[in-house]
Amino acid sequence: MATAGPGPGDCVFCPIVARRSPAYIVYENDTAIAFLDIFPFTRGHVLVVPRRHVDRLTGLRDGEPGALLASVAEVCRRVERLSRDYNVALNQGALAGQIVFHLHFHVIPRYDRQNPFAGTARAPLAADEAHELVRVLGAA
Ligand code: 5GP
Ligand code: ZN
Repeated sequence: MATAGPGPGDCVFCPIVARRSPAYIVYENDTAIAFLDIFPFTRGHVLVVPRRHVDRLTGLRDGEPGALLASVAEVCRRVERLSRDYNVALNQGALAGQIVFHLHFHVIPRYDRQNPFAGTARAPLAADEAHELVRVLGAA
Protein backbone atom coordinates (compact mmCIF):
# COMPACT_ATOMS: atom_id res chain seq x y z
CA MET A 1 0.00 0.00 0.00
CA ALA A 2 1.28 3.49 -0.79
CA THR A 3 2.40 5.49 2.20
CA ALA A 4 0.46 8.65 2.96
CA GLY A 5 1.60 11.89 4.54
CA PRO A 6 0.05 14.75 6.46
CA GLY A 7 -2.75 16.83 4.97
CA PRO A 8 -2.59 20.48 3.91
CA GLY A 9 -2.92 21.64 7.54
CA ASP A 10 0.48 20.21 8.45
CA CYS A 11 2.16 21.03 5.17
CA VAL A 12 5.36 23.13 5.22
CA PHE A 13 4.99 24.13 1.55
CA CYS A 14 1.43 25.51 1.70
CA PRO A 15 2.54 28.47 3.88
CA ILE A 16 5.32 29.16 1.35
CA VAL A 17 2.76 29.15 -1.48
CA ALA A 18 0.57 31.51 0.58
CA ARG A 19 3.60 33.73 1.34
CA ARG A 20 3.14 33.18 5.07
CA SER A 21 6.51 31.39 5.35
CA PRO A 22 9.73 32.71 3.82
CA ALA A 23 11.40 31.08 0.84
CA TYR A 24 13.88 32.07 -1.83
CA ILE A 25 11.51 32.10 -4.78
CA VAL A 26 13.11 31.86 -8.23
CA TYR A 27 10.01 31.44 -10.41
CA GLU A 28 6.22 31.49 -10.11
CA ASN A 29 3.13 31.49 -12.28
CA ASP A 30 -0.60 30.90 -11.79
CA THR A 31 -0.22 27.20 -11.08
CA ALA A 32 3.23 26.67 -9.63
CA ILE A 33 5.96 28.21 -7.54
CA ALA A 34 9.66 27.33 -7.47
CA PHE A 35 12.04 28.06 -4.61
CA LEU A 36 15.45 27.02 -3.35
CA ASP A 37 15.70 23.89 -1.22
CA ILE A 38 16.83 24.80 2.32
CA PHE A 39 19.11 21.74 2.43
CA PRO A 40 20.41 21.66 -1.15
CA PHE A 41 22.06 18.57 -2.55
CA THR A 42 24.05 20.92 -4.80
CA ARG A 43 24.26 24.66 -5.43
CA GLY A 44 21.03 25.81 -7.10
CA HIS A 45 18.82 22.91 -5.99
CA VAL A 46 15.26 24.09 -6.74
CA LEU A 47 11.86 22.68 -5.79
CA VAL A 48 8.92 23.16 -8.18
CA VAL A 49 5.60 22.98 -6.38
CA PRO A 50 1.98 23.25 -7.57
CA ARG A 51 0.07 25.99 -5.75
CA ARG A 52 -2.79 23.62 -5.01
CA HIS A 53 -1.96 21.15 -2.25
CA VAL A 54 -1.83 17.61 -3.56
CA ASP A 55 0.47 14.96 -2.18
CA ARG A 56 1.34 13.14 -5.38
CA LEU A 57 1.36 13.36 -9.16
CA THR A 58 -1.62 11.07 -9.53
CA GLY A 59 -3.70 13.51 -7.46
CA LEU A 60 -3.50 16.23 -10.11
CA ARG A 61 -6.62 17.14 -12.08
CA ASP A 62 -7.16 17.58 -15.81
CA GLY A 63 -4.76 20.14 -17.25
CA GLU A 64 -2.63 20.39 -14.12
CA PRO A 65 0.11 17.91 -15.11
CA GLY A 66 0.83 19.84 -18.29
CA ALA A 67 0.98 23.18 -16.52
CA LEU A 68 3.26 21.76 -13.85
CA LEU A 69 5.59 20.18 -16.39
CA ALA A 70 5.79 23.49 -18.25
CA SER A 71 6.83 25.10 -14.96
CA VAL A 72 9.47 22.42 -14.37
CA ALA A 73 10.78 23.01 -17.90
CA GLU A 74 11.01 26.75 -17.30
CA VAL A 75 12.96 26.15 -14.09
CA CYS A 76 15.24 23.74 -15.98
CA ARG A 77 15.85 26.42 -18.60
CA ARG A 78 16.98 28.77 -15.84
CA VAL A 79 19.04 26.12 -14.02
CA GLU A 80 20.96 25.62 -17.27
CA ARG A 81 22.52 28.99 -16.45
CA LEU A 82 24.33 27.13 -13.67
CA SER A 83 24.92 23.80 -15.37
CA ARG A 84 23.74 21.91 -18.45
CA ASP A 85 23.72 18.79 -16.29
CA TYR A 86 21.05 18.26 -13.66
CA ASN A 87 18.66 15.72 -12.20
CA VAL A 88 14.88 16.19 -12.21
CA ALA A 89 13.50 14.02 -9.42
CA LEU A 90 10.17 13.16 -7.88
CA ASN A 91 9.89 11.15 -4.66
CA GLN A 92 6.47 9.58 -4.15
CA GLY A 93 5.74 8.00 -0.77
CA ALA A 94 7.89 7.64 2.34
CA LEU A 95 9.54 4.48 1.08
CA ALA A 96 10.72 6.42 -1.98
CA GLY A 97 12.16 9.18 0.19
CA GLN A 98 9.25 11.64 0.19
CA ILE A 99 9.46 13.76 3.33
CA VAL A 100 7.21 16.68 2.37
CA PHE A 101 3.80 15.45 1.25
CA HIS A 102 3.05 18.35 -1.05
CA LEU A 103 3.94 17.33 -4.58
CA HIS A 104 7.27 18.78 -5.71
CA PHE A 105 9.83 18.15 -8.40
CA HIS A 106 13.48 18.56 -7.52
CA VAL A 107 15.82 20.17 -10.06
CA ILE A 108 19.37 19.43 -8.90
CA PRO A 109 22.32 20.85 -10.86
CA ARG A 110 25.36 18.59 -11.30
CA TYR A 111 28.82 20.13 -11.54
CA ASP A 112 31.16 17.16 -11.37
CA ARG A 113 31.21 13.38 -11.28
CA GLN A 114 30.72 13.15 -7.52
CA ASN A 115 27.44 11.62 -6.38
CA PRO A 116 25.70 14.31 -4.30
CA PHE A 117 23.15 11.78 -3.05
CA ALA A 118 25.70 9.43 -1.49
CA GLY A 119 26.64 11.47 1.57
CA THR A 120 24.44 12.03 4.58
CA ALA A 121 25.22 15.61 5.63
CA ARG A 122 23.61 18.42 3.62
CA ALA A 123 24.63 21.91 4.66
CA PRO A 124 21.81 24.42 5.09
CA LEU A 125 21.40 27.01 2.36
CA ALA A 126 23.43 30.11 3.22
CA ALA A 127 21.65 33.46 2.87
CA ASP A 128 24.35 35.12 0.74
CA GLU A 129 24.41 32.18 -1.66
CA ALA A 130 20.61 32.16 -1.78
CA HIS A 131 20.48 35.85 -2.70
CA GLU A 132 22.99 35.28 -5.50
CA LEU A 133 21.01 32.29 -6.80
CA VAL A 134 17.77 34.27 -6.76
CA ARG A 135 19.53 36.93 -8.81
CA VAL A 136 20.76 34.38 -11.35
CA LEU A 137 17.70 32.12 -11.52
CA GLY A 138 15.00 34.68 -10.83
CA ALA A 139 15.57 36.61 -14.06
CA ALA A 140 13.23 35.75 -16.93
P1 5GP B 1 11.35 15.06 -0.48
O1 5GP B 1 12.31 14.16 0.24
O2 5GP B 1 10.01 15.15 0.19
O3 5GP B 1 11.24 14.74 -1.96
O4 5GP B 1 12.03 16.49 -0.47
C1 5GP B 1 11.67 17.50 0.40
C2 5GP B 1 12.68 18.61 0.25
O5 5GP B 1 12.15 19.77 0.85
C3 5GP B 1 14.01 18.31 0.93
O6 5GP B 1 15.06 18.37 -0.03
C4 5GP B 1 14.13 19.39 2.02
O7 5GP B 1 15.45 19.86 2.18
C5 5GP B 1 13.19 20.45 1.51
N1 5GP B 1 12.53 21.25 2.54
C6 5GP B 1 11.93 20.77 3.67
N2 5GP B 1 11.36 21.78 4.36
C7 5GP B 1 11.60 22.90 3.64
C8 5GP B 1 11.26 24.28 3.86
O8 5GP B 1 10.62 24.67 4.83
N3 5GP B 1 11.68 25.17 2.93
C9 5GP B 1 12.40 24.77 1.82
N4 5GP B 1 12.76 25.74 0.96
N5 5GP B 1 12.73 23.49 1.59
C10 5GP B 1 12.34 22.57 2.50
ZN1 ZN C 1 0.76 21.79 0.91
